[in-house]
Amino acid sequence: MADDRKLADIIQKGQEGQVVLLGFPCDAGVEINGGRVGARHGPEKFRSCMRRYGTVDNPEVNIDLSGIRIADAGDIPADLPLEASHTALTEKTASIIQNGGIPFVVGGGNDQSYSNACALLDAKPDIPVGVINIDAHLDVRPLIDGQAHSGSPFRLLLEDPRFSGSQFIEFAAQGSQVSREHARYVKEKKAQIIWFSEVARIDAAAGAFRGALGRLAWECDSLFVSFDLDSIRASEAPGVSCPGIMGLRAKEAFEMAFAAGAHPKVHLFDLSEYNPIIEEELTGRLAVGIFYHFCLGVASRRKVAS
Ligand code: MN
Repeated sequence: MADDRKLADIIQKGQEGQVVLLGFPCDAGVEINGGRVGARHGPEKFRSCMRRYGTVDNPEVNIDLSGIRIADAGDIPADLPLEASHTALTEKTASIIQNGGIPFVVGGGNDQSYSNACALLDAKPDIPVGVINIDAHLDVRPLIDGQAHSGSPFRLLLEDPRFSGSQFIEFAAQGSQVSREHARYVKEKKAQIIWFSEVARIDAAAGAFRGALGRLAWECDSLFVSFDLDSIRASEAPGVSCPGIMGLRAKEAFEMAFAAGAHPKVHLFDLSEYNPIIEEELTGRLAVGIFYHFCLGVASRRKVAS
């Protein structure tokens, strides 16, 4: 409807845009990690939810998304072997960044995040890169039979010689879902863990997240925000491989997505573990809401600049 345009109405096909949606329809990494499969359907269900949600000209926050160009670059081919799909993802994400766009990558399993981090490291080889992982888990498990999986992306990143652990923050991790050995490993790499209990007070998470972005931005010129939906409580995000009884709230997730979009140094965002086989509707709307608020944030960058 002309007087009530939704996000999907202004998205253009291709990879020419300030924000570029990219799908990673792969859950082989979830299966290797022993999780419940289904996230390979995430991008497809995400796009179908997007048709019904997200006003273009938002009168509450007074931001009009038609001021930015949002593109949809489609999906990484679904039928590739895991390693080949990771390589294809890195190449595609890097090409979007080199083209000046901010990729918003919808998974798929959380293993996508190392491939995406590599894309940013490849695209910006000469500047320090910072990464925040919003996740109930640390995702620093060792490889399984030499294979990357949904629990290993940040071990791969912390072992990458191009990256420094002091530029990595684990945000909203939960001690009941994290081993002492993995927490010790993260700290040994000089990375920071901000536990869920530290941000669980009412309305504390978004402020703590903005603080974490600011801390990384002090020493880094390019930031990657990686968001695992299982960091959000299961009552609001039931459709993930590993639902958590406690966790962030949807409202906080939206505020954090907006803050990430609004930050001028955020050059990459990924969203992992939407599993529509477990639950499609609520979690799909949540995932699209995160994308929508990220886009509102990006649109607000222009406002600040002008
Ligand atoms: Mn994860």
